[in-house]
Amino acid sequence: MIDSLLSDENKMFRDTVRKFAEEKIIPNVKTWEKVGQYPDEYYRHLSEMGFMGLLVPEEYGGAGGSLIDLAILCEEMGRAGVSIPLTHVSACCRAILNQGTEDQKRRYLPDMASGKKIGAYCQTEPNAGSDAGNMSSFAEKKNGYYLLNGRKVFISNGKIASVFVVLAKTEKNLPKPSKGIATFIVDRDTAGVSIGKTEDLMGRHCSSLDEIIFENVKVPAENLLIPAGSKGFKEMMIEFNSERCGNASFCVGFAQGAYDRTLRYCKERVQFGKPISEFQGIRWTLAEMAIKIQAARLLIYDALTKEKKGKIIAKEASMAKKFANEMAVWVCDQAIQLHGAYGYTADYEVERYYRDVRGWSMGGGTTQVCLNRIAHEILK
Ligand SMILES: Cc1cc2nc3c(=O)[nH]c(=O)nc-3n(C[C@H](O)[C@H](O)[C@H](O)COP(=O)(O)OP(=O)(O)OC[C@H]3O[C@@H](n4cnc5c(N)ncnc54)[C@H](O)[C@@H]3O)c2cc1C
Repeated sequence: MIDSLLSDENKMFRDTVRKFAEEKIIPNVKTWEKVGQYPDEYYRHLSEMGFMGLLVPEEYGGAGGSLIDLAILCEEMGRAGVSIPLTHVSACCRAILNQGTEDQKRRYLPDMASGKKIGAYCQTEPNAGSDAGNMSSFAEKKNGYYLLNGRKVFISNGKIASVFVVLAKTEKNLPKPSKGIATFIVDRDTAGVSIGKTEDLMGRHCSSLDEIIFENVKVPAENLLIPAGSKGFKEMMIEFNSERCGNASFCVGFAQGAYDRTLRYCKERVQFGKPISEFQGIRWTLAEMAIKIQAARLLIYDALTKEKKGKIIAKEASMAKKFANEMAVWVCDQAIQLHGAYGYTADYEVERYYRDVRGWSMGGGTTQVCLNRIAHEILK
């Protein structure tokens, strides 16, 4: 942790999250993974703690937290070995908060902040991943509503969500296809919305990536969140930079959790008559792990400190995400290695950290997309 960059309130929040994780999460994660989903009480606890509405102002029923609080929450939860619905907390709530009309905010944010309704962010399609401009979901403007048709894939927590923030084109054949993309709020119980395939994932076994199908869905005109070609779309994309920092913070947390376990293990495990932490090869690996974790954390806090001062952090957030994603995979891999064969078993949990962290370099902009963004920013 970077205490020098945290306010007293930030530190109190960190201590609260850590205590919560130690009491309510760490003792249960292994069981939850075996069952293959978080129990309802998990989301209830997150809601009671105010985490689901962390970024929502108090006037809409949220906790009024900052992006630094979000980084703290993500790191501590990652460290405990769980994920929270980041797209709910960040992408969905923030899009409605920052781009929504007063009516949309009043209708959605209080229930989302209290955890009564979980949000999912629906952008990716079978043929439009990194290339979002190629999406084929289309919402045709009718009298008083939009007729939405499309298929979204890999949607985090799609099947437990009751509110979808959906990107779909309202205009076709534009010279710049992304200019035709609008954003809608769609209720799960609207006729024509259904859940398709749930992916069988390498890790993250407690939460899901789901296909969401929209078939002749009548979306009321008052649920248009961001019209195509408006400055709101660009603003939403800028706000997503900080979501990259949330993703990176999770990775720092997973790496820290795997490292903590490894440090403990290396001090306890005796081979050749002494703890393996006394072998130089092991000591250097532990030192490398500690350096990389702290370096990733510094990149995140550099980005968020600049964001707080009003800077657009496209470059900094991409740097933080790219570095943290790869760092965490490396750290978790080393954690398994330093545990020897025990690390390859479920008993010591580091194998779960490795599997869970691997997917974070895809969601929220892949490693290569981050590199493209960084290169764009430094070359422009
Ligand atoms: C854990 C997880 C959670 C997710 N959650 C959500 C969600 O909640 N909502 C949602 O809408 N989507 C979600 N996604 C989907 C995610 O946004 C996409 O996986 C991502 O945009 C990449 O798309 P793709 O998988 O189709 O890969 P592709 O875009 O097909 O890319 C394949 C490979 O080519 C590389 N590549 C692509 N374009 C370029 C380029 N121009 N230059 C260099 N390399 C390139 C990519 O980096 C990748 O390595 C999630 C994915 C994961 C794994």
